Amino acid sequence: MSTISPLVVKCPQCAAAEVFYSCEPECCFNHICARCRATFETATRAVGASAPGARDLRDGDERESDAPTAQCCVCDSLELGTLADGRAVCTACGAVLELVLENVQPG
Ligand SMILES: [Zn+2]
Ligand SMILES: [Zn+2]
Ligand SMILES: [Zn+2]
Repeated sequence: MSTISPLVVKCPQCAAAEVFYSCEPECCFNHICARCRATFETATRAVGASAPGARDLRDGDERESDAPTAQCCVCDSLELGTLADGRAVCTACGAVLELVLENVQPG
């Protein structure tokens, strides 16, 4: 395992990775696809695994306010990233997470 890369969210309708967060964590996790204009909300589900080293690998970079984001269902942190094997991980508590896309509205 090398580094944690930023969280990647793919559009559930067209699979494009050009997805932007369009709201605030205080409100909701609504995202919009720049390609097909579909909107959806992100959520997470713990898969029961953990990557304890994830906490040491967070890059500390300030994230863009429109970068895709999701909330850890274990500790409520927004500090999610992607492991080298492509799975989502919470860099605050180390839980490996499955990204769930809800309320999909076709664009
Ligand atoms: Zn909202
Ligand atoms: Zn799309
Ligand atoms: Zn967490």
